[in-house]
Amino acid sequence: MLDYEDARALVFEIAKPLEKCLCNLTESQGMVVSEDIIAPHGIPLFDNSAVDGYAVKAADIKEASKKNPVRLENLGYISAGETGDETIISGKCVKIATGAPLPSGADATVMKENIKVEATHVNFFEAIPKMENVRYRGEDIEQGETVITSGTVIGPAQMAVLATFGFSQVPIHRTPKISIISTGSELVNVEQKPQKGQIRESNRYMLSGMIKQESCELVKMSMVPDTPEILKKEFDEALKCDVTIISGGMSVGDKDFAKNLLKEMGVEEIFWKIKFKPGKPLFFGKRQKTLVFGLPGNPASSYVLFEEFVRPTLRKLMGRRILEEEMIIAKLDKDILKTYQRLHFMRGKLYEINGEYHVIPLDFQGSHSIGSLVEANALIRVEANSPELPKGSQVSVRPLKNEIV
Ligand code: AMP
Ligand code: MG
Repeated sequence: MLDYEDARALVFEIAKPLEKCLCNLTESQGMVVSEDIIAPHGIPLFDNSAVDGYAVKAADIKEASKKNPVRLENLGYISAGETGDETIISGKCVKIATGAPLPSGADATVMKENIKVEATHVNFFEAIPKMENVRYRGEDIEQGETVITSGTVIGPAQMAVLATFGFSQVPIHRTPKISIISTGSELVNVEQKPQKGQIRESNRYMLSGMIKQESCELVKMSMVPDTPEILKKEFDEALKCDVTIISGGMSVGDKDFAKNLLKEMGVEEIFWKIKFKPGKPLFFGKRQKTLVFGLPGNPASSYVLFEEFVRPTLRKLMGRRILEEEMIIAKLDKDILKTYQRLHFMRGKLYEINGEYHVIPLDFQGSHSIGSLVEANALIRVEANSPELPKGSQVSVRPLKNEIV
């Protein structure tokens, strides 16, 4: 049986970033840039005014005061979008809009709020330094600067930068196509009332939510009973994706057909079972380029295994630089008295106080516990055969993407 570390190393070695392609800027949110984005020109494109006001030569108003205002002749108005071909010579000024090009000869802009117009002239009441209220060409981003590093996720800020530089198409890695199949004859749909022995299926919703968090494409999501013929038909379709996630049927029950069926269908077993809790019966396999995760059906196992194995794999496929949240050190707020022979990722509640992280291990740690799942925003790493961990001990914690408000 593989250790958690060895199993993860194997998975991340096999998962390779998908091909590079272009996507429309409008659809790029959540995708990952596949090349460094280099500024093709400086930004701002031209010297322009940072305020609505009057472009002046700073030297003209250096003696200006409340008592002795300086009067300059106004040459007109440069609005945003105009070329700003006027030239300011000593004794003149021009009204200017935010973002309008600074006319040649001017070297500062005085805010509209600080002047007084008098017919064709404008009164200035205080001196301002050169360059005041001017955004200079190239001062924000220089030509040739790397503005977005390869492997970065595109969010609204990145989209703004890409648009600024004319990237209507963005170089990304192709989005992984994912399928999820929940297996189990006890499962019924969310609309149904479970009869004796049945439960409502929940893993598909949980897993699809996690997949959406990573902006992957969910192409198929189904629920099937533990019937080999039906399973086979579903697997056949699902194995055409980049990643196939099977929930349930991975253990040693009489009706746990999934693993053997996958193997019969040409899926190479990379490993099955890891020294880990929750979710010992994790299966990982590969058929050509398709990666197959067999997650045990217990919701908490599926959840934790997704966090530790599937999420970073999806990120790797998408070409991300950062595969997961770094683990942080936190102080235990409660004893952990029961420890296990396997490495245990316990659900916990993480919070920060006075610059220090604290974590509360939650009460129900069973692989089936959905209650402690909703309450958890972190996983506490408890080593195999760990001694008891009294309150106050320092533990390694993985923050989760589970918002608790
Ligand atoms: P299995 O891994 O198939 O042995 O299932 C382990 C436990 O998880 C059983 O109690 C199942 O009823 C439960 N389970 C399996 N699949 C799901 C699912 N999709 N949604 C909720 N519970 C499930
Ligand atoms: Mg089952």
